[in-house]
Amino acid sequence: MKLESLIKNKPEDLIERFLRYTRIDTQSDEHTNTSPSTMKQHDLAKLLADELTTMCASEVVYDREHCYVYAKIPASKGCENAPAIGFISHMDTSDAVSGKDVKARIVENYDLSDIKLSEDGRYVLSPKDFPELLNHKGDDLIVTDGNTLLGADDKAGIAEIMNMAEILLLNPEILHGKICIGFTPDEEIGEGTTYFDLDKFGAKYAFTVDGGKLGEMEYENFNAAEVELIINGRSVHPGDAKNRMLNATLIAYEFQSMLPAFENPMYTEKREGFYHLTMMKGTCEKAVVYYIIRDHDMEKFTKKKETVKRIVNFLNEKYGQNTVELTMEDSYYNMIEKIRPHMHLVTNAKKAMEELGITPIDQPIRGGTDGAMLSYKGLPCPNLCTGGYNYHGRYEYAVIGEMRACVSILLNICEIYSDFSE
Ligand SMILES: [Zn+2]
Repeated sequence: MKLESLIKNKPEDLIERFLRYTRIDTQSDEHTNTSPSTMKQHDLAKLLADELTTMCASEVVYDREHCYVYAKIPASKGCENAPAIGFISHMDTSDAVSGKDVKARIVENYDLSDIKLSEDGRYVLSPKDFPELLNHKGDDLIVTDGNTLLGADDKAGIAEIMNMAEILLLNPEILHGKICIGFTPDEEIGEGTTYFDLDKFGAKYAFTVDGGKLGEMEYENFNAAEVELIINGRSVHPGDAKNRMLNATLIAYEFQSMLPAFENPMYTEKREGFYHLTMMKGTCEKAVVYYIIRDHDMEKFTKKKETVKRIVNFLNEKYGQNTVELTMEDSYYNMIEKIRPHMHLVTNAKKAMEELGITPIDQPIRGGTDGAMLSYKGLPCPNLCTGGYNYHGRYEYAVIGEMRACVSILLNICEIYSDFSE
């Protein structure tokens, strides 16, 4: 039976829900070294836990220490033996652009013209810069006012999961096994799963709902590492610096100049990896530089890390030992290795889309997700679309029709797994 016809009791409107979440500032901060990285993420966590309790989800757990929210929807009658399926989204937003005082606005029936985001006309969302907008003629879009990001990454995912949960709880005729819900903090700084409690979560398989365009589904992601360089220079009065001064910032430049020029996010796409300079500050005396390294291919990823080490060794030989201090740590790995033994996750998600007339798009993630980490912790976890675009910036937008379709995909997945056995 068509799922739509089983939804007799209507939940709160998805978009109202989403807009409520966007108004809560949940920006994470990679420099605080606390967990969660920012206390304001608790504002959303607490709200979600309350809302889940109000809609009568069971086993609602709000981890007040580390800011995680878990909840369950018990299996419907006769589906108790179906595998428990989980859905996960992250509550924090990127630290690239402010997430404070988000004033989202709906552009109805989009006519393909430029969308003036800020009143002063400084920020314009234009198909010239973002050709993908041309696919949205007649759609209703949610955009920013140009001063902040929107936070569809990943509050669109949260709103969709919450909407799905409410629909399931209000409409017991929809068949599903046990459904597990998890909301994490600090995904954007790579810490989303640090304190994620797999036992409390309770799912056998899960999906993160943290992707973009409708139909996209991702089960391949980058291998990722972080690099910190501390460069120790020697400051001397510039008047008599000859053969004595060591300018730390110039050595940082030198490091950058020795990296392969085109292996840079500005010049790469699809499965091409890169080195990305994320932060640099320096004086003559000292410079601190951060990079991230990304590559889908493990061998190329390893080679990139070796290149960094080789350049550091070269510079230390040239300028003296310990001139450049290197700290390099792996952040996460490509989940494909852990998904392959459970390819039903991919085929069933695609089936859930095709039943709705949505063409699935295989898309290797040029980033990471909570799901990549969880897959390596034993919870295979591909990523699903949310209907959001242009993440991590003021040009972020979401397509209302796509967001609604994403909820239908989640419901279909629940139903497909209601009589699934391996
Ligand atoms: Zn995200």
